[in-house]
Amino acid sequence: MRMEELVALCKRRGFLFQSSEIYGGLNGFWDYGPLGVLLKRNVKDAWWNDMIARHNELLQLPGAPSKFSMVGLDCSIIMHPQVWKCSGHYDLFHDFMIDCRESKKRYRFDHIKGRWVTGLKHGENGAPAERVRVFVTTIETENELEALEEAALKFFGLRKKDADKLEWEDDEILGIDSFPNNDFSQVVGPDAKHVGTLTEPREFNLMFKTTVGALGGEEDAAFLRPETAQGIFVNFKNVVDSVQARVPFGVGQIGKSFRNEITPRNFTFRSREFEQMEIEFFCHPSESADWYRYWRDRRFQWYVDMGLAGERLRMREHEQAELAHYSVGTADIEYAFPFLPEGEFGELEGVAHRGDFDLRSHAEGKLVREGDQLVLEKDANGAPKWRGSGKDMSFYDDLRKERFIPHVIEPSSGADRATLAFLCESYKVDKAPTSEEGKEEDRVYLKLHPRIAPIKAAILPLVKKDGMPEVAAEIYGELKKKMPVQYNEKGAVGRRYRRQDEIGTPFCVTVDGQTLQDGTVTLRDRDTLEQTRVKKDELLVEIQQRIGE
Ligand code: ATP
Repeated sequence: MRMEELVALCKRRGFLFQSSEIYGGLNGFWDYGPLGVLLKRNVKDAWWNDMIARHNELLQLPGAPSKFSMVGLDCSIIMHPQVWKCSGHYDLFHDFMIDCRESKKRYRFDHIKGRWVTGLKHGENGAPAERVRVFVTTIETENELEALEEAALKFFGLRKKDADKLEWEDDEILGIDSFPNNDFSQVVGPDAKHVGTLTEPREFNLMFKTTVGALGGEEDAAFLRPETAQGIFVNFKNVVDSVQARVPFGVGQIGKSFRNEITPRNFTFRSREFEQMEIEFFCHPSESADWYRYWRDRRFQWYVDMGLAGERLRMREHEQAELAHYSVGTADIEYAFPFLPEGEFGELEGVAHRGDFDLRSHAEGKLVREGDQLVLEKDANGAPKWRGSGKDMSFYDDLRKERFIPHVIEPSSGADRATLAFLCESYKVDKAPTSEEGKEEDRVYLKLHPRIAPIKAAILPLVKKDGMPEVAAEIYGELKKKMPVQYNEKGAVGRRYRRQDEIGTPFCVTVDGQTLQDGTVTLRDRDTLEQTRVKKDELLVEIQQRIGE
């Protein structure tokens, strides 16, 4: 599948629109259309139901070290600024970026990739041609090799048919972090015509800043949350005290997060406003490694169950060197999105063992690692750099007769990335019979899991006469009370099926001549194209069973 096809379908059928499109759009912001809002809500509901609402704390779940409970929260987007100072986001939550003096564009440092190439460069203003060796670059795209060749042709002023005049040095594509001292004098920026126009990388904080209250001084500065997790940590005591939660337990939250990403791109994959689905799971330190493995495996299986089974989904354990300073283990659940270069994967969810870093930071102040210890970060005068709340964040376990600061396992996923992965995976093209005898044509359909499909069934009278629309409208009215369904009586039934296939509707219910005689309708399955006759009174139960909720 080509990404452009999916993007076009999303716009045409009302899944996703560019934000503020009539004003030219705003980079990094997206709107979910009438079908997209249903799809994304279903993804969030599936997560919420499977992780929180339907969790049975009386059962010992397979693979879990013990029984446990799960509750939810919905915290504010703007929180006390001290939250971000103690969490580390204020000092550390940044990316390196590079500006191009020529193109005036800004790139994320770790996104620029390139290759060394030598060729004959014609001098400007009549200067003699000379052989030059430069490092041409592109930002990560679906086909980096092609993009780099194009960049080199452009730089040397060659046509495609002269591509063999270029001498490439390495087969390997390198990052520009391979330049010592950030000397980019031989680098041609991704959109530049000249060499050496990239600036040194600079740090850029990803938090959106805003002002609380009317006066608007620096002391009133606040931030839009870059993750939902911190709301859970700062409410740890409130949850324990209000619902008598006992460790081990988890707290889940779904909500918007904001990051001023330097290079938002790849559709909704990297947006500046997005939604997260996060769990903070609190457990005894001695059991935290087991809980980490439990959550990593359980979250991976969730994506498989929702339809991402196959080689495009993988789990990647971080190397020791890659781990955040507080983490004992981290695994990313990744998906090979079609807009990434062949063989590359993008993060869907990170499952991290965070130790007691977060609760301790909010109690004591911002922590840093010294050797294998976490210690309070000090300023030049030896005072704590950022003071914590001073509140006790420990838990007293009356069974163990022990007080401890729980360790945290954090499965942190993105609702938009998950929705995008489900869309990419589900996009299928096959051959299907048309209404004309013996003829087949291409059929585009979204093979979405019925639980997340935006519309569960379409009710279609075969023809617009003989009382069929009336019966179909009645069935529609009954089903609509229980699930999102559509009614459509316009055009040939084959064409109506195709329209439903394209938006991933798993079932089509057709009212035909036989319905009027014996009260049965045909139920067509989107994936197998099988049609079975079902009594119209049994339709609701039949569809609910097939959806599997
Ligand atoms: P990346 O390295 O891709 O920027 P991250 O490691 O910073 O991601 P986390 O901080 O672990 O991401 O956030 C948890 C989840 O939130 C991610 O796995 C992803 O699903 C989602 N997420 C993070 N940033 C974005 C974004 N800019 N747009 C959409 N979803 C995002």
